[in-house]
Amino acid sequence: MAKVNVPSHLQAEQFQISPEYVRISMAAAIELGLARGRLSRCSCGCINLLQNYPEGCFANCTYCGLARERPGVPEENSFIRVDWPLFPTELVAEKIGEKDVDGSVGRVCIAQVQDHRANDDLIDMMQTVRRHATEVPISALVSATLLDESWLARIKDAGADIIGVGLDAASEDIFYKTRGRGAKGPHTWDFHWEIVLAARDMYGPMNVNCHVVVGLGETDKDLVDLFYKLKKEQVAGYLFSFNPEPGTEMQDMPRTPLHRWRRIQLVKYLIEEKELPAEAIEFDASGEITRLNAPEIVIETAVDSGMPFMTNGCPDRQGEVACNRPYGSYRPGEEYRDYPFKPNSSDVVNIRRQMNLEEVWNKLGEAVV
Ligand code: SF4
Ligand code: SF4
Repeated sequence: MAKVNVPSHLQAEQFQISPEYVRISMAAAIELGLARGRLSRCSCGCINLLQNYPEGCFANCTYCGLARERPGVPEENSFIRVDWPLFPTELVAEKIGEKDVDGSVGRVCIAQVQDHRANDDLIDMMQTVRRHATEVPISALVSATLLDESWLARIKDAGADIIGVGLDAASEDIFYKTRGRGAKGPHTWDFHWEIVLAARDMYGPMNVNCHVVVGLGETDKDLVDLFYKLKKEQVAGYLFSFNPEPGTEMQDMPRTPLHRWRRIQLVKYLIEEKELPAEAIEFDASGEITRLNAPEIVIETAVDSGMPFMTNGCPDRQGEVACNRPYGSYRPGEEYRDYPFKPNSSDVVNIRRQMNLEEVWNKLGEAVV
């Protein structure tokens, strides 16, 4: 790692670290008036915060800009490819409180990194937010490897109603290679699931979610199997599109093609919302979806609604998606990967073109009943 030589008990004096300081997504900083800028076509429904330590993160996920063995100085680290400016936690909490006077902050999310201080600091940071915004819903995006049932209970007592877990990999094999021992990282698939299910029991059905990254080397079948497992366990699955971070081990891995990403979004939606049975999806030997046996009207209506292509994320007080992460998976000027708002009819035309629907339809739709 060799990025920081200052022992952790002296770091607070030399660095701006959590819990006193916090990183905030650029979209959320704009929303709170802490950064200048304008969001195109939407507002930012969730204030996403991230713990900050000089070393970044002690885990070593091969796709992540905060990973331990990523070269460079910590100040250059980025998380999901966008800059996360640093502010005093107290100031951010004050701004959240001011904005939430009328209940207009959809949700606050505090993300942990893998660090020995991260659990205590998460509680501290949640309490700071709570002091200023007594009613705002709070999600804790945890590092499962740090937790046990008693920490899950303490996080709940501190005010979180939702636990997010960065499962990220869609299968045990991909998890091992990108996050676990195969990546010289501390995480294990089994323990992540242990924490996910313990959290589901404690926080309730659909109040726990797994982040799932599309494009880490998994097959369509891995993803589909995971969607059914999550549904069965009453755990929400939130999709992210892999976007290579410069300087990481996976920096040269291409993004998943847009047409695959769109198909995965659509199939996930049909499984979750339209009870698509597993037998309706056929795969080739490499695990790619080859056929979808579903009523054409169901598929057409789903596509036209635009809903499958919206950002997946934790809800606000009304049950609408709060965590819409503008610019989370694309840069300004790039095509949307997930839409932080409901796509309009011209967006749907675009989406159909990106899915290459006719080709896909011939391929996927030949057995449509
Ligand atoms: S645990 Fe999270 S923050 Fe740390 S390296 Fe892995 S993905 Fe990045
Ligand atoms: S979906 Fe958003 S609010 Fe929910 S845990 Fe993930 S990052 Fe946090």
